Amino acid sequence: MSLLDLASYASAWRGYEYYKAKKVKECKKIDNNRFEGLVSGTKSTPYLVIIDLAHPRSSQCDCPHANGKRIICKHKVAVYFQAFPKEADRYYREVIEAEEEAEREQERVENLLIDYVSKMTKEDLRQALLQTLFEGPEWQFDRFIREHLDEY
Ligand SMILES: [Zn+2]
Repeated sequence: MSLLDLASYASAWRGYEYYKAKKVKECKKIDNNRFEGLVSGTKSTPYLVIIDLAHPRSSQCDCPHANGKRIICKHKVAVYFQAFPKEADRYYREVIEAEEEAEREQERVENLLIDYVSKMTKEDLRQALLQTLFEGPEWQFDRFIREHLDEY
C-alpha cells in the first residue's frame, strides 16, 4: 500500500491543505525511495519528516502525533505531495469526484422518498407523521408544536 492509502481520511486531507498552503519548506530526495522535508507546524521550529516510499510505515516525523509511531500524519502526506505534485492533483480530483458522487446519491434517495411520499394514502401519512414526531428528536417535536398548535 502506498503512503497515501495508509493515511486516514483526515490526515490525507489536512496534508493536502498543508501542501497547498506551502507549509513544506524544504523537500529533497535522499535516495530512490526516501525524501526528507521540513514542514511548518504549530510550534516555531518546523517538523523534520522523512518519507519512505518502499516502506511507508517506516516514515518518520517528529510531531507529537506521529513521533516514534507508525502513523501516517499530515506532515508526511504534505511532503509526499510536495515530492509528487501530480499525486496531489490526482488526490484532489478523487476527493471532489467522491463528493459529487455522494451528492448525486443523496439526490437520488431524496427523489425516491419524494416519489414514495406522494403516493402514500392520507391515513399512512397521518401515522408516519405521528410516529416521526413521537419517535424523533425532541427539537423536532417541539418545533412542530410551536409551528402548528396555536393555543400552545
Ligand atoms: Zn507529523
